[in-house]
Amino acid sequence: MDLARMRLANRARCVKLVLAMKVIVVGAGLAGLTCAKVLHEHGAEVEAFEAADGVGGRVRTDERDGFLLDRGFQVYFTAYPAARRHLDHDALELRAFDPGAIIHRGWGRTVLSDPLRDPGGLPSTLFSRTATLSDKIRVATLALKCMLPGSAPEAAGETALEDESVLDFLRECGFSREFVESFFRPFYGGILLDRSLAASCSVFTFTFRMMVRGEAVVPARGMGEIPRQLASRLPEGRVRLESPVEGLLREQGRVRGIRGPWGEREADAVAVATDAPEARKLTGEKVPEDSVGEICLYYETSGVGSGKKILLNAEEGSFINNAVEISAVSERYAPPGRHLLYAITLGGFDLPDEELLRRGVEELSSWYPRADFRPLGLRRIPYGQFAQPPGMHAALPRNRTATPGLFLAGEYTVDSSINGAILSGERAAREVLGR
Ligand SMILES: Cc1cc2nc3c(=O)[nH]c(=O)nc-3n(C[C@H](O)[C@H](O)[C@H](O)COP(=O)(O)OP(=O)(O)OC[C@H]3O[C@@H](n4cnc5c(N)ncnc54)[C@H](O)[C@@H]3O)c2cc1C
Repeated sequence: MDLARMRLANRARCVKLVLAMKVIVVGAGLAGLTCAKVLHEHGAEVEAFEAADGVGGRVRTDERDGFLLDRGFQVYFTAYPAARRHLDHDALELRAFDPGAIIHRGWGRTVLSDPLRDPGGLPSTLFSRTATLSDKIRVATLALKCMLPGSAPEAAGETALEDESVLDFLRECGFSREFVESFFRPFYGGILLDRSLAASCSVFTFTFRMMVRGEAVVPARGMGEIPRQLASRLPEGRVRLESPVEGLLREQGRVRGIRGPWGEREADAVAVATDAPEARKLTGEKVPEDSVGEICLYYETSGVGSGKKILLNAEEGSFINNAVEISAVSERYAPPGRHLLYAITLGGFDLPDEELLRRGVEELSSWYPRADFRPLGLRRIPYGQFAQPPGMHAALPRNRTATPGLFLAGEYTVDSSINGAILSGERAAREVLGR
């Protein structure tokens, strides 16, 4: 047989191998859905088992009386490199936030135009106490570095930096204390779900890069459209909802399937794409243990007039960390002529719902005394992201485990973000396929 024929025969054998491959994905969050999508695209026979009554995991949107309530305040960055490979941005009808923020401190309010794209636009009158000239120059320098061509990290843990906390990084950059407290603490507190800024600076530099290189957006009809779009790339019936997996079937040192209250299912490979605590329970693999969370409060308002900007709370010991009138970003979040506001608190898990909602109204009313705030409900999210302290990303579990037939997907194998989850799913699928 000549070389060309041998190559052809080999390729045919590989295709047959993949075609014949049966893969089970446990969990239909972004990681599981992406893993299933990539496997399906490569000809594998894939079935996803999801415990909940819908796809999306931590990225879901509930509709209540015409209001779209995302399960926690989340934004998507159009520059996310892995997510771009799998999502059709046009079909999501993305709606952008205005860059910058409105910073509240007590009764005072400062509009920060755009510290990333237009550092010169920091209003010096309002910011005389907050951002010094050197703060503006440092923001501009960081932004410029992000625009330079060069190695483009796929995820937070891949930024080529000595790791340290966000706070230490900002101090080393030379930002003034005032600017860190007024802007970075509430802004990155909202992204990291932790106002202490003790998380890895790689998350800071990666998200900063995403903001400089693209826009912060939400899909017009809610964040839940992202997983829905991924699920739509799979053939009908390949995601089994309300089908929790209780354990793995193991035989002679390899994983050969799953079991649940619905029975057993065998496969050539199992990709566990749950959150980290559940993955530890199911697989026994070493995964990150700590987590951070938030409580999202939903209010119908008479309109606060903050436009598409994020509201930040610079006050130390404050209850609300950040808020946004989300219906100003996409009008479809509220019924016609009405307004919806999300407010985020990073603590208060021990308080009853009524008290949380009352404290939210109290603080929001001090910012906007002329507006009304009618509580619509709240969502407690104790497990929002796995904790990402400095050094964490270098120690994350791999997508291929030492057990034959067992693979891990899930943000906790990359970084805690929509991009991290999608990248983890893609990588797990490639490991399953042996690519
Ligand atoms: C409040 C909040 C704010 C965030 N903000 C942002 C943001 O602004 N931008 C950003 O990029 N990222 C943000 N993130 C992070 C991002 O949403 C997550 O990193 C990502 O959604 C995690 O996806 P995943 O698929 O890895 O895990 P998950 O979404 O947790 O999916 C796991 C799935 O597995 C299922 N499952 C669990 N156990 C079982 C079982 N035994 N059997 C079957 N199924 C099971 C679950 O029901 C779930 O559907 C935020 C997250 C939260 C919660």
